[in-house]
Amino acid sequence: MKEKIKTKTEEKISCADKQCPFHGNLKVRGRSFKGFVVRKFDRRVAIEFERIVYIRKYERYMKKKTRIHARLPDCLKREIEIGDYIEVKECRPLSKIIHFVVIKKIKSKDEK
Ligand SMILES: [Zn+2]
Repeated sequence: MKEKIKTKTEEKISCADKQCPFHGNLKVRGRSFKGFVVRKFDRRVAIEFERIVYIRKYERYMKKKTRIHARLPDCLKREIEIGDYIEVKECRPLSKIIHFVVIKKIKSKDEK
């Protein structure tokens, strides 16, 4: 129990990010997606996932990739690396291309 409290306070200190869904004043709403991290920037990650599209002309399905840029809060910066499987949730548009924010890490690239 004691340890739990300690980690919580540590998180608070390390995160001064206003645009953090846990510590800042950023509300999340709308759709959420899961995908793999393909790019990592200073405060942004790009995730990619596959979706299946029906092609009427050929009466077949085709795989298409969707790429989403998501805001990476300061408190998740160290945790998330390229190749990780993460979850993002929609928020207000933070910039021209960012309207999602990283919520949590589901799997790291090492575990299967
Ligand atoms: Zn935070």
